[in-house]
Amino acid sequence: MATNSKIEWTTHTFNPWIGCTEVSPGCAHCYARDMMERRYHRVQWGAGQPRSRTTADYWKQPARWQRQAQANGQRERVFCASLADWLDDEVPIDWLADLLKLIETTPHLDWLLLTKRLEHWSDRLQAVSRLTHDDATIASTWLEGNAPVNVWLGTTVENQAQAERRVPRLLALPATLCFLSCEPLLEAINLLPYLSTVADANGTCALESNRLHWIICGGESGKEARSFDLQWARSLREQCQTAGVAFFFKQTGAHAIDSSQSHPVRRSLQDPKGGNITTLPEDLQVREIPTLLQPAPVERSKKQKCVPLPIKEVL
Ligand code: SF4
Repeated sequence: MATNSKIEWTTHTFNPWIGCTEVSPGCAHCYARDMMERRYHRVQWGAGQPRSRTTADYWKQPARWQRQAQANGQRERVFCASLADWLDDEVPIDWLADLLKLIETTPHLDWLLLTKRLEHWSDRLQAVSRLTHDDATIASTWLEGNAPVNVWLGTTVENQAQAERRVPRLLALPATLCFLSCEPLLEAINLLPYLSTVADANGTCALESNRLHWIICGGESGKEARSFDLQWARSLREQCQTAGVAFFFKQTGAHAIDSSQSHPVRRSLQDPKGGNITTLPEDLQVREIPTLLQPAPVERSKKQKCVPLPIKEVL
């Protein structure tokens, strides 16, 4: 549950830098741009505009979360870059090297790395690897096929075209757990070919299955929000149920419709940001989060294989 974030599917949010460039239809009403460029005039969005690194003090927060999680014997999730994209190739490479180092030194935190730019994964990690000259860093070992155990790798899918473009890219990369953010969802999508198979009798779903393990879904927020049909979310919920995959319905957004009904969606069911789960349509009050049974964190030099177990924590 969010404690240091307004986003319900994470515990914390951390922005190593701010700024980005729109890359696909899901970016059309980028809330980060609205806030950081238009409201606070802090960063100019777009190609060629410098990104803004957050302060050294701010960068100390994850170490505090790590100590707290370790002391409590719990794992906590950190959504990385709600105001940027961690694989943005206009970000200085040493910033990315610093981020990966931070991830490496916080093994009790599960870092949720969401991107619309998976095509840059290899080039960016190779550049970090060349910069650090160290073959035991996350970048080097990940490039060799050893996914960091405390990274959940995700991509955004807003329509079927992006699902077909981005999901195969995601599933081709080494990852402890793969997830999708289908927000803002702009049309009905079929993910069945990519969802993980149901766990075996021991509840184990091998990493090698290269399938999605978690789907987050929601409509668009803001004054210019595009329509979101609740039937699209129901379809994804059913696809996930069929495949035994965790499903998280985040929000209806500001312009929800329900094509299964002849009357418009009641305002009481339009909690644009989904802060209160009870205001969501009853059949979409589903907020599952996959949990991993992970081995204790090990030194980076000992390469490890990890096996995600799709045991669900239901909020
Ligand atoms: S990738 Fe994310 S942060 Fe970047 S422009 Fe698109 S929506 Fe905004």
